[in-house]
Amino acid sequence: MEPPVREGDVLSVVIDNVAFGGEGVARHEGFVLFVPFTVPGERVRCRVTEVRRGFGRAELLEVEEPSPHRVRPRCPVFYTCGGCQLQHIAYDEQLRLKRRLVFDALERIGRLRGVEVEPVVPTRPWYYRNKSAFPLAQEGGRVIAGYYAPGTHDVVDTDQCYIQHRTNNLIMREAKRLVQELGIEVYREDTRRGVIRHLVCRVSEKTAEALVTVVVTSRYFPGKDDLIRQLTEAVPDLASVYLNVNTSEDNVILGDEYLHVHGSPRIREELLGLSFELGPASFFQVNPTATELVYETVLDLVRPRRHEVVLDLYCGIGTIGLSLAGYCHRVVGVESVPPAVEDARSNAARNEVENASFLRATAEDALEDLGFRPDVVVLDPPRRGLTRRVVDALTALAPDRIFYVSCNPVTLARDLAQLCRAGYTLGPVRPVDMFPQTYHVECVVLLEKR
Ligand code: SAH
Repeated sequence: MEPPVREGDVLSVVIDNVAFGGEGVARHEGFVLFVPFTVPGERVRCRVTEVRRGFGRAELLEVEEPSPHRVRPRCPVFYTCGGCQLQHIAYDEQLRLKRRLVFDALERIGRLRGVEVEPVVPTRPWYYRNKSAFPLAQEGGRVIAGYYAPGTHDVVDTDQCYIQHRTNNLIMREAKRLVQELGIEVYREDTRRGVIRHLVCRVSEKTAEALVTVVVTSRYFPGKDDLIRQLTEAVPDLASVYLNVNTSEDNVILGDEYLHVHGSPRIREELLGLSFELGPASFFQVNPTATELVYETVLDLVRPRRHEVVLDLYCGIGTIGLSLAGYCHRVVGVESVPPAVEDARSNAARNEVENASFLRATAEDALEDLGFRPDVVVLDPPRRGLTRRVVDALTALAPDRIFYVSCNPVTLARDLAQLCRAGYTLGPVRPVDMFPQTYHVECVVLLEKR
């Protein structure tokens, strides 16, 4: 069937849903159109920009009948930056839409009927991220910093990102000013000349200590000492500074070489009363307040008992397992990235947790050769979800309870469907708003063996 629209057509359509990705969804003569920056319930005028088999995309020209939930985006670069997708929607409505998004994924992708999806647990809607990589660039003699516009390497200049912790914004602004004042050359991708490429900022929610990694093309450059000294004077919470040397010509942010140049080598963070140390390359959850809510939910729903053994798959630096260790007999964590496993072990030691151990292995290998049967398995995979091998080995192992923590409702739906077919019953799905203003949503759910 020929699509009923062509590129360039201007249409008036009604938005009836939100897509995973944040765009509004409209139907024109049954043909699906994705229109960014719209709100379900609105009538909008839009111009078709792309037509594919089965769906198209359009750009918003005018909101003809606005939704009562439409608000003015807080950030002046919201429409060009691409980091957030939902700032034009009131926060309460974002939560309702995300709940529907999760529900739709379970129904359409998982073909799971009648699953209870709880209301999305709200979190602090602004200034919540503890980590950011800001690219720098030069524009008409002025140093700028911010984010890349979607699909490009054009830096959208900003002085404050409203979802970043205030300290990270302060570091970015002060560094931008100092690079300008000290005349330090910013790296250019086209000529491959210049020194400063990126700033990677991270801050602790609980102790306020911050760490910055300045990504440069050379460990020696004019203005280096002044930059470091003046930056630490301007940002009192800046406890640790690293240089990262990246001479590569591709666009990976970080090189292999880190040089510690100021303050302490690590900053301290806390989660549910446990303490963690973070270096420049350590993995850590980007929204610690929401992470605590997720871990509290794990405790609440898993209710580990004194004699039980918990397997924490995709354990990262061990945070979930360590927060359960006090309630059960033993925790075994599995993680494939070696430095994360080392961090997990030292985190156990730092917190005097003696009944947790960590395996450096893929979830696939570990499950097929485990040698014991855990009572509870916690899964927290990356966005792509579980592989077939993990699902098969897991169902062969047949733990009583599986607790799934997911950052992607689409792969969650697919995986839950497989686990249900293999004999598990689904509890209610609880979404937690780990990433306000964006379309992302974290979900947790307990499965019990029938
Ligand atoms: N549970 C942790 C980390 C979750 S992020 C937390 O709450 O902080 C997902 C983790 O899975 C990452 O640390 C990643 O390195 C790891 N990972 C990815 N693929 C894996 C695999 N096949 N086997 C084991 N770990 C894997």
